[in-house]
Amino acid sequence: MSGFSDIKTALDEREQRGLYRRRRTVASAQGRELVVNGKQLLNFCSNDYLGLANDERVRAAFKQGIDDWGAGSGAAHLVSGHTSAHHELEAALADFTGRPCALLFTSGYAANLGTIDALVGNGDHVLEDRLNHASLLDGGLISGARFQRYRHRDTEDLAGKLEQLKPADKRVLVVSDGTFSMDGTTCDITATAEVTRKHGAWFMVDEAHSLGVTGDRGRGLVDPQQHGTDSVQILIGTLGKAFGTQGGFAAGSEELIETLIQQARTYIYSTALPAAVAVATLASLKIVAEEGWRRERLAELTGRFRKGARELGLELPDSSTPIQPVILGDERHALQMSAALEELGLMITPIRPPTVPAGTSRLRITFTAAHTDDDLQKLLIGLATVSGI
Ligand SMILES: *Cc1c(COP(=O)(O)O)cnc(C)c1O
Repeated sequence: MSGFSDIKTALDEREQRGLYRRRRTVASAQGRELVVNGKQLLNFCSNDYLGLANDERVRAAFKQGIDDWGAGSGAAHLVSGHTSAHHELEAALADFTGRPCALLFTSGYAANLGTIDALVGNGDHVLEDRLNHASLLDGGLISGARFQRYRHRDTEDLAGKLEQLKPADKRVLVVSDGTFSMDGTTCDITATAEVTRKHGAWFMVDEAHSLGVTGDRGRGLVDPQQHGTDSVQILIGTLGKAFGTQGGFAAGSEELIETLIQQARTYIYSTALPAAVAVATLASLKIVAEEGWRRERLAELTGRFRKGARELGLELPDSSTPIQPVILGDERHALQMSAALEELGLMITPIRPPTVPAGTSRLRITFTAAHTDDDLQKLLIGLATVSGI
């Protein structure tokens, strides 16, 4: 008998509890429609908010990038993998977020893990919103710092916890999603920054679901005019969502970025993104900033969906973002609803624990600027049809 002898039983048990995860194999390019199991489905679960993952201009830039730089970057950034294409994208991201410097990581997950782990350790403190993305929670846990969660968007609870750390001679890091990935709710940046500053802590905001989607020219929730690096010291962005490519970045002061270059293990010990990804992202960054109609379209779809869903009697959380979860509670119920919607040609993957807290399984509906009025209508009709299940 080995310690792994229960591996099959554990899988069976997971299946029985409605928690088993299965991948859907997609047979078409990313877009508002996907081919799955030979069937065309309307895609209401991607994070390609602006419809740029398969944009002609981004694709053309990607191809050109491959011709200029090859397929792979060959090494980590600190070895020989850091090209002028990466460097140019970092400067553009710094400019876009209104920060002095930015640093590219291979994913948002790597950016979060590496950044938190580089900045705090034994004896320090990390306080996180309890609904933060797994990569932020994992970063806090891996860092070795004392890790606490505060209630969702509750600055009083946060303030109370910060109060108890006094006198704080150690580093204290407060971490929050900007837009919460599974709920669509948003962090009150001003209030949280204020509480954090009062206690001499640093504030890290993960803008994965806000960059490109909200704010002036798509700059997200952290407006650089109002919140410079003295109030939000660390800004995190991901490139695989609204930007439609791949990767993540941290932005902030020169000292912050230099510290991450010295100490972020996910940065140091990992091959740089292909330079062509940086070239493609430069093209999408330009579109993100210039084509405001994409954000307007998203807001319009979101507003109309909420109105239609309310008419159906569906309860929606307080979200004005393109993330519109329909919370069902039970895992198996979420699975059944998702399967029934798929029968009607709608792809909405169920989100279950541990991605969301127990008892809050949901259908996480997301919109992209590419969705048509007709798509929205089909979604509402579909939801009406399955709502009795
Ligand atoms: C998706 C996501 C990440 C991870 O980004 P990847 O580039 O997909 O690794 C980090 N934070 C939040 C809030 C996310 O939603």
